[in-house]
Amino acid sequence: MTHVMNTYARLPVAFARGEGVWLWDANGKRYLDAVAGIAVCGLGHGHPRFVAALREQVGRLIHTSNLYEITLQEQLAHKLAALSGMENVFFCNSGCEANEAAIKLARLYGHKKNIESPAIVVMEKAFHGRTMATLSATGSRKVQAGFEPLVAGFVRVPFDDLAAVRRVAEANRSVVAVLVELLQGEGGVNVCHDDYLHGLHEICETHGWLLMLDEVQSGMGRTGKWFAFQHSGVMPDVMPLAKGLGNGVPIGACLAAGPAAELFKPGNHGSTFGGNPLACSAALATLAIIEEERLMENAVKIGDFIRAELARRLADAKGVKEIRGAGLMIGIELEYNCSELVKQALEQSLLINVTMDNVIRLLPPLVITREEAELMLATLVPLIAEFLARQNVAHAAAQTA
Ligand code: PLP
Repeated sequence: MTHVMNTYARLPVAFARGEGVWLWDANGKRYLDAVAGIAVCGLGHGHPRFVAALREQVGRLIHTSNLYEITLQEQLAHKLAALSGMENVFFCNSGCEANEAAIKLARLYGHKKNIESPAIVVMEKAFHGRTMATLSATGSRKVQAGFEPLVAGFVRVPFDDLAAVRRVAEANRSVVAVLVELLQGEGGVNVCHDDYLHGLHEICETHGWLLMLDEVQSGMGRTGKWFAFQHSGVMPDVMPLAKGLGNGVPIGACLAAGPAAELFKPGNHGSTFGGNPLACSAALATLAIIEEERLMENAVKIGDFIRAELARRLADAKGVKEIRGAGLMIGIELEYNCSELVKQALEQSLLINVTMDNVIRLLPPLVITREEAELMLATLVPLIAEFLARQNVAHAAAQTA
């Protein structure tokens, strides 16, 4: 890929076609995909009904412009509002753009309250994207390094720490919102305690802040509910979405409710491609298939099975710190840097991801069956066990040296 900018450390494989959880490379070798395009292809690859819906729409109409009304956009906004309880939707093309819209909403909201420099509380280890504003909101120096000056207006606190948010509330009168992933994805599949969202909601109510939940990775059924916040019943004011929404056709959305729902006026925000007929038909088909094929139930059932089996089969393996997650968003934290496992798994025809250097992340398509999960475990568990055995020996040798 000599004329492509060098922004990714790519693995040496290119896929030619896919079906369900399976991908085939150009040589016809088959791989089990436990990454799903990083939580994107919930329906798996080549879902016949999804493909048929897209083909039909491609022949009918691909793009017009937001200069005109778009019937499919209206339908999709209506459906998303019904599924989430939110009110209004802005459509864009990616997760970072959905977060940009959220950040702009928060700033408008602040200026309406006569706050000159509105600030947003964000979390350590958060990931919100790679545009200038979203990388500034992201809690990773690796993502930010080299791009200073960062966008101002973010106050960072540790994840899952309500006392830290309360301290900011007392000290900083310019705060207007909190932006958080309830289940951090890139940051290591980090889960919060049960009352965290209730606590954040209470702080937001007390101080008149917007509660903004980045569900770009955790949304669209991956955790077993349409949106992760629905496990606890607390409603956000703003919710950015993307990834699984279009099953691989690029689409993002920023949903808003209550005080945030009517903030944008014509001219405040926009996107050339955002919510075009092709992207909206993809999202509508995705939502219908998730619903009718009961894929959220499947995510819970298979996700629970995978986590339980990992815990059982790795019970004697020294060096597993924690197995965590919800539904089909699963993290296995090891005591060692385990990036090399990605390549080793690839050699054994399994696609996995490692984030934060030591967390194996599994994000298989929501259509994965128990038999396919078994196949995944049959490759993954010995890989992890052998890796840990090697690391433990090396570690012990280094201790005695
Ligand atoms: N927000 C979260 C929680 C994400 O996981 C990601 C991507 O991994 C993003 C935002 C950025 O999305 P995109 O890469 O589509 O801009």
